Amino acid sequence: MHELAICHGLLDELMALATQRAANRVLSVQLCVGPLAGVEATALRQAFTLVAAGTVAEGAELTIDQRVVRLRCDQCGCEADAPHINHLTCPSCGSWRTTVLEGAELLLTRVELETPADLPGRAAREPQATPRPN
Ligand SMILES: [Zn+2]
Repeated sequence: MHELAICHGLLDELMALATQRAANRVLSVQLCVGPLAGVEATALRQAFTLVAAGTVAEGAELTIDQRVVRLRCDQCGCEADAPHINHLTCPSCGSWRTTVLEGAELLLTRVELETPADLPGRAAREPQATPRPN
């Protein structure tokens, strides 16, 4: 499954990020997915749940931000959103000679981490220096 490979890569990124920030847990993850990335949202969610199990990302809320296909026409030079992912023709002049500017991306756009500093009552658990009575 294509989505599983993607999620393994995604998890590597999340683990690295969590280690770097000394986080206990990944709370939420936002992905930006273009229609040409060849990823199915439902399959991606299932794969993420599977891959994240037993890691810092277990139970993280996954948000998938679906994007549109953005085209630039090689004929008339206009930039526009493609009317449909199977119709990558210029909406202005109808030319099929277009370049896809956006739409094939799969990006990690936002990650929310829980770090020990965020936990309430942390300060109270820090060892206190108590003055010794003489
Ligand atoms: Zn055009």
